[in-house]
Amino acid sequence: MYVPNEKRYSSMSYNRVGNSGLKLPAISLGLWNNFGGEDVFENQRNMLRKAFDLGITHFDLANNYGPPPGSAEENFGHILEKDFRSYRDELVISTKAGFTMWPGPYGDWGSKKYLVSSLDQSLTRMGIDYVDIFYHHRPDPETPLEETMAALDLIVRQGKALYVGISNYGVEDTAKAIDILKKQGTPFIIHQAAYSMLNRWVEDGLTDLLAKEGAGCIAFVPLAQGLLTDKYLDGIPSDSRAAKAYIKSLSEKDVTPEAIEKVQKLNELARERGQSLAQMALMWVLQEQSVVSALIGASKVSQIEENVQALEHAGFSEEELTIIEEILK
Ligand code: NDP
Repeated sequence: MYVPNEKRYSSMSYNRVGNSGLKLPAISLGLWNNFGGEDVFENQRNMLRKAFDLGITHFDLANNYGPPPGSAEENFGHILEKDFRSYRDELVISTKAGFTMWPGPYGDWGSKKYLVSSLDQSLTRMGIDYVDIFYHHRPDPETPLEETMAALDLIVRQGKALYVGISNYGVEDTAKAIDILKKQGTPFIIHQAAYSMLNRWVEDGLTDLLAKEGAGCIAFVPLAQGLLTDKYLDGIPSDSRAAKAYIKSLSEKDVTPEAIEKVQKLNELARERGQSLAQMALMWVLQEQSVVSALIGASKVSQIEENVQALEHAGFSEEELTIIEEILK
């Protein structure tokens, strides 16, 4: 039987999401990779236990996480039942819909029909009555934004989600979505956006907008899927994401000599700070305004331990920030 670490809240920091009442851990765990039907269940269970033991209260899912799609939510549901049932109120569970989930015209994009039925399916797969955050996963160029936001508003009023957010929306669409939700009466609190040292698009207006609107940003893929760690410095290890044939999000061709040259220099700076590169990369995303949590992935318990230890050395000197800018230029 799993008995969580009694000291789980002693070292993690919790940041308020914009002007909302919700706080998220500085490090959150996403189940996009390594929690599907093809991954080892006991490893998944051990990672979730370790994460919770270290104060990670937020687990991020989506309808399509797997493979196969839906299997990450199913596995999470099984682990929740076995280990976390009595800790549900200590957890922030999120899911999303917006990418292809089932065939036909109602299993994709942003209609009310899709979002409402997809969340019902997600709740069934996870065996829970509500999620804490429900996101529209990507903008839909065809469905009126008013309809998509009305679906989010409805879901909150139905009690199936406590908070709503959006993901992968550009600055202009985010501003429109916020305005619509304000009129509908359900506050927008969070944007889930890709952000790392190698992908800085949010700095071009998104984090300013979120700060102005009293909303937060949770940064996904903060380690560039593992590139911003020391794992690819001497080639591509066989147990890495880039080497796994069934994962198409990162491949051997993404591990370019140019990227590795930058990563090498960043790694040297991290070592001078007394941190690993993964730890420095996580602390770096957290110092951007509006960013409340770095949403990591992991394939091993030890990665979660290393990443949470990053909090022991937060903050950067002006000189370090200048060096990082030079390297990333
Ligand atoms: P990361 O950038 O954190 O990459 C995680 C991967 O990096 C791990 O699987 C592991 O790869 C490697 N890694 C992690 N820690 C270490 C370490 N300390 N040392 C060495 N290697 C390490 O994020 P992900 O790409 O996994 O995405 C995180 C989450 O973001 C997802 O689970 C999901 O919740 C969310 N997301 C949201 C999206 C959206 O559209 N809203 C899109 C993508 C992600 P390896 O397997 O090689 O060991």
